[in-house]
Amino acid sequence: MTRLDLTELLRRRVRDIPDFPKPGIVFKDITPLLADHTAFAGAVDAVVSHYGRGTVDKVAGIEARGFILAAPVAYHFGAGFVPVRKAGKLPSATLAQSYALEYGEAELELHQDAISPGDRVVIVDDVLATGGTAAAAAQLVRRAGGVVVGISVLMELTFLDGRAKLPEYDVQALLTV
Ligand code: AMP
Repeated sequence: MTRLDLTELLRRRVRDIPDFPKPGIVFKDITPLLADHTAFAGAVDAVVSHYGRGTVDKVAGIEARGFILAAPVAYHFGAGFVPVRKAGKLPSATLAQSYALEYGEAELELHQDAISPGDRVVIVDDVLATGGTAAAAAQLVRRAGGVVVGISVLMELTFLDGRAKLPEYDVQALLTV
């Protein structure tokens, strides 16, 4: 499949759900994409080929939909998978990073020993919106001693300019809206 065909397929397999989880938000539902083998495998392969198999030590998936994508990406990279989770979910000692939301604050955590110093890490999530989540995940990886090789998302909501929070990183978006 060409890159153009894949982009078109991915675009058709992401569903807009207006006013979810609250009024005014258009939720990008990736479950039709995950249910389609060609789309799911194509997305995973596109991330792996962007960096190259064997060039990455760890793939950090952001809870929760990031996990679904990051695990097969890690497998195909020949890399380990590490979870970046919402506060209070990881059982062992963690590093914590808070970040601003539209209203209030949120916190992400990473196990302190999840990443070895110098590990080359790719961060994976489904949607890049304002960029706060990805920026916090990148901070955690760096504080743990890792090197952020890139940030890969299925979809970037360009009107929110999340990239502006990530100027020092290679941000790969398979789809832009
Ligand atoms: P942000 O920190 O604003 O870039 O938000 C990114 C995080 O929120 C990701 O983990 C996404 O899963 C989720 N997210 C934000 N906006 C949307 C949306 N419109 N549809 C689906 N998920 C979203």
